[in-house]
Amino acid sequence: MTAMIEIKNLRRVYRIGQEKVIALDHVDLNIDQGEICCILGTSGSGKSTLLNMIAGLEKPTRGEIKIGGRHIEKMTEAQLALFRQKYMGFIFQAYYLLPNLTALENVCLPLTFRGISRKKREEAGKKILADVGLKKYIYHKPTEMSGGQQQRVGIARAFVSKPRLILADEPTGNLDTATTFEVIQQMTDLAHQYHQTLVIVTHDIEIADFADRIIHIRDGKIEKDERKKEREEI
Ligand code: ADP
Ligand code: MG
Repeated sequence: MTAMIEIKNLRRVYRIGQEKVIALDHVDLNIDQGEICCILGTSGSGKSTLLNMIAGLEKPTRGEIKIGGRHIEKMTEAQLALFRQKYMGFIFQAYYLLPNLTALENVCLPLTFRGISRKKREEAGKKILADVGLKKYIYHKPTEMSGGQQQRVGIARAFVSKPRLILADEPTGNLDTATTFEVIQQMTDLAHQYHQTLVIVTHDIEIADFADRIIHIRDGKIEKDERKKEREEI
């Protein structure tokens, strides 16, 4: 197995005036290529901080993070932006679709920075939108779709360029239970299909159950790390 994410002795401290918040401490974590894992913890446990560090959106206070063998904590903002464009896809709780664009245009957006022809972009966009069950909605705008459908557009946008790593922070936080399961299933199916690494942050054990591996985080530390096989044997 090749490592996709290698984290060593990671620490992140926030300062608010005199107050010091240790959001992450002594985090060591390896995630392999093609692994589908959940980071599970209650609110304030450090999940988003960890995901933002992996995305290179925030710098660690101490420690190192390698993605695909590259030290991201040493990259400049410009290097990081390119690196993210090339290797990462993001899915957010709030979808962040552009309201004036159709589903297809939203999904094709990450490809426009890559020098791919319009025809090829649209082919890829239509294919991935069909994969997430939105074949009939490609010309709809976000306001003409349900929350679940909007998040599927968000998923299609994250997957369309086939990035090696997909990061999702509470991706179903705004959805009802039935829709949540559909959406999570779709994400994990796609990641399996294309052998991508998927990291989902959640506070919900039922969502975590869709993953092959659950990394429990509490007060900024990894408390438990369980893989599906081990869990099923219990
Ligand atoms: P989670 O995503 O698990 O809810 P976070 O990673 O957002 O947790 O936060 C972990 C801890 O760090 C919390 O105590 C939170 O208040 C604190 N924290 C997060 N971001 C900031 C920030 N920008 N400034 C100060 N404190 C922060
Ligand atoms: Mg969070």
